[in-house]
Amino acid sequence: MNDHILIATAYNSLVRIYVAKTNNLVETARNIHETWPTATAALGRLLTAGAMMSYMYDGDNDLSIKVEGDGPIGQMIVESNTVGELRAVIKNSAVYLKYNDSNKLAVGNAVGHGLLTVRRNPHLKNSFSSSVNLINGEIAEDLTYYFYLSEQTNSSVGLGVLVNEDQSVKQAGGFILQLLPGATEEVIIQIEKALEGITSVTDLFESGLDTRGILNKLAGGTEKILDEKPIRYFCGCSKDYYFEALKKLDNAVLDEMIDEDGGAEIICQYCKNKYHFSVDELHKIKSAR
Ligand code: ZN
Repeated sequence: MNDHILIATAYNSLVRIYVAKTNNLVETARNIHETWPTATAALGRLLTAGAMMSYMYDGDNDLSIKVEGDGPIGQMIVESNTVGELRAVIKNSAVYLKYNDSNKLAVGNAVGHGLLTVRRNPHLKNSFSSSVNLINGEIAEDLTYYFYLSEQTNSSVGLGVLVNEDQSVKQAGGFILQLLPGATEEVIIQIEKALEGITSVTDLFESGLDTRGILNKLAGGTEKILDEKPIRYFCGCSKDYYFEALKKLDNAVLDEMIDEDGGAEIICQYCKNKYHFSVDELHKIKSAR
């Protein structure tokens, strides 16, 4: 099953539901950033949320979601665009912590206390951001709180990443269920009933359900699928992009690259692609300003 997002309404169009399958997205991020299992789960949950949120807002809203915790992972940033392309950075990818009692990956401990910030149009002048405190660093609850506080939306968020023995991604996905204006107490009771038997998203995938099956469970059979959208890890950086970025550096810094380093090698922090700039090219950058 390829990665995708199902977008649906349910409960007489009073609820919006997103369901995500993100195995390839998270596995690609693991390979690029060489994440250890708990970092894979933390970044994978954030990527999965970002994938669903990339299709949540009307208009041209590129998004960045930043989690800055005081745990060993440090900062994570996920960026998405409106066609479901995502990229990410993680400060410390070598984190492998488990909870003693459950033997589950200790994402909350690895992330810690701190802030979650969602920024719309991060690369434009009219960018707009909103931050909330992390509730427990497990990402799903933190986002639920963000939707409630920043967007006045009641939601239920489930995010999960299951890792194989060899540390590759076995299952990754999630759901976001949001009450739309006019949702009644009766609908809330129905949703609570639907959510009752659900322990985790990865358990649902492991039991053999696909995204449609999970949607059906969340919607209590009332779902109407509106769309199915692709998602993938895609950076989109280029040598031209870094040419422009180098143009912004001071002469002293460029001169140092020319005189002392004999060129520059830039590694993209999102995709780890390497770009080499020769002394000639650095001179060209200096005179292009
Ligand atoms: Zn890149």
